[in-house]
Formats: sequence, structure tokens, C-alpha cells
Amino acid sequence: MDASPGSGAKERPILLRAHRIVNIGGGDYAFTDLRKTDLGGVQGRQFRFFTPVRRDRMRLPTSLPEFAGLRHVANLSDSPVTVAAELGGHWSEYNLAAITHVAACNFRCSYCYVDYRHLAGQDAFITSADGVVDEFLALRRTAEAAGKQLSLLRVSGGEPLLAPSLVIEIYRCLAARDLLGSVVLKVESNLSALPYAWQQSGLRLSAAEREELRRVKVHTTLHHPPGSGDWPAIRDGIVLALELGFDLFPAVGASDWTAEQLDRTFHELALISPGLPQRLAVRPFHLDYPALADRRKLPLPNESEAPSMVWEEILRRHTGVGYLDEPRHLVPLS
Ligand code: SF4
Repeated sequence: MDASPGSGAKERPILLRAHRIVNIGGGDYAFTDLRKTDLGGVQGRQFRFFTPVRRDRMRLPTSLPEFAGLRHVANLSDSPVTVAAELGGHWSEYNLAAITHVAACNFRCSYCYVDYRHLAGQDAFITSADGVVDEFLALRRTAEAAGKQLSLLRVSGGEPLLAPSLVIEIYRCLAARDLLGSVVLKVESNLSALPYAWQQSGLRLSAAEREELRRVKVHTTLHHPPGSGDWPAIRDGIVLALELGFDLFPAVGASDWTAEQLDRTFHELALISPGLPQRLAVRPFHLDYPALADRRKLPLPNESEAPSMVWEEILRRHTGVGYLDEPRHLVPLS
């Protein structure tokens, strides 16, 4: 990785602090005890359930033909589609995720749905990658007994890629237990911490291991646009995530981004990998809601106001292809 791994770390004490909180050492990591949060679907200290596709919340896999007409007013939610592509079958069989939250983040986004104290290590407990998979399998048995299929293990936060070794160890643990045919690992990340955290991890991957990591789905929200102070770290994180082999799905909640910033985003992403702009989910929701607001009460933007319309125009101008003309997982990254 050439992307100046430690760059900016000295100026980002919050990054160093968050990194220390999550990485306990000796194969242990800090997670938020979900029983001490207000998050929905909590099943125990380690996991909560989440239903990715919900029509009542306008979270739809709008890259599919049956929902494509809603792509400028609905919030793209295509994890089940990605899982179906990996495991076989129909997306509706995979519309359940178990989410675990690492205990810190290096950002403090005003719209974060996680309570600030849970971005700073409060109410944390410690476990290993093995422990996470044990809890997931126990939950899966309970879900199956209730007639539900659970195939999506999602690591969120906080910022999971403060601990890239955690993600890789969970993946290896799934592989060692012969679970890769029935479980997909998804990571939600802002990516800005990855260059520093990767350098600190001391990990090295062979070419074969990088190829394997294509099975790990990294969904990244770009919280700051090109030109902002945090963009270089985010860009370096994108570059490194691709070099490590992760299957990358970028997104923006871009209602406050200008057309110029979106156009610049196109060029920055295309420079990293020509397929990235077509993988970008441009979510039409406004990210200026108060923390912990009930999203169902948010007014939906008009289609004509949707930033995805601006993005559509940018994509067509530069590539001749429209927004979500193709499901994102089918767009190659190299
Ligand atoms: S990067 Fe994500 S987890 Fe971190 S503060 Fe922002 S929204 Fe919250």
C-alpha cells in the first residue's frame, strides 16, 4: 500500500484514541453492549437484528427492475441482493442481518444514529473474532427455530476498520468453520481510519488472501466530499480497501453536496477504479436530521430534488450509463 498509511494521524488524536479503544490486544476487541443502547432489534449484548429491505421505510433494492422506477426517491438497500449473488437464491431469502457494533469511531457525524457515548467506548465489552462468530451461530440457531434464515453478519459501529484484523479474523473464522457457503460478512465503514489501522496491525496478506477478501462486502458512506479536510484520508482508505481485495460499495447521503462536489467525486472515484462511480449509491435522504430522530417522520425529498438526479446527469455525461442501470455488485472494480 502506497497511500501514506499514517498520514494525518498526529493531527487526529480522536483517531488514535478510537483505535486504542477498539484494539484491546491479544486477539480481543471492544464492542458496544447493545443492551445498553436505544437501538432496535437488540438480541443480546453482541447482536441486533435488522431488516434491510422495508417498503414502509422506502429502503428498497432499486437497482432491480421491479424497483427501478423508485430509484430517485427510495434509499437503495441492496445487501440482500448482494448476498443472493454470493450464496444463490432470491434476495428475499436474505432480508435479515445480525449487526454487531465496535465500540468507537474516529468521526462524530451530527446525524449519526449511534449515541455519542457509544462512539467513545462507553458501555463496552470485550471479545474475540471467535466469540463474535459463536454468538452469531447461536443467534442463527434461534432464528432458524423461529423459521427465519440468517445469512448476513454485519460488523458496524463505531468504525470497524479501526480494527482490520478483527474483520480478517472473523472472515478466517467463518472459513475455518466451513461457513462461507451460507454466511456473508458485511462491514460498514467510513474508511478514513483504515490506512492508519492497517499499518498498526502489522498484517500482511498474500495475493491469494487478497483474492479471498473479495467475498467481504465493505459498504462505505463517504461522509466528507472531495476538497474537505477529511477527504484525503477517505480517498486513501478507498485505495487501500481495494488493494486489500475487499468488495467495495460506496454511498453518499448527498443532499447537502453541491453538483460540483458530486462531479469531483466522480473524477476522484473513477481515478481510483473506473467502476467505482457506477457503484456509488446516492441516497436521497437528508442527513441533517437530529441524532436519533425517527427516520419515518422525515419528509421524503421530491424526485426533482434528489441528489441521485444530479448524479444521474453526471454519470450519463461522463460514461453514457445511468444511475443504477446495473446492480452494483455486477459492476467490476478492476
Ligand atoms: S462515521 Fe458512521 S459511526 Fe462514525 S460518527 Fe459518522 S455515522 Fe456515526
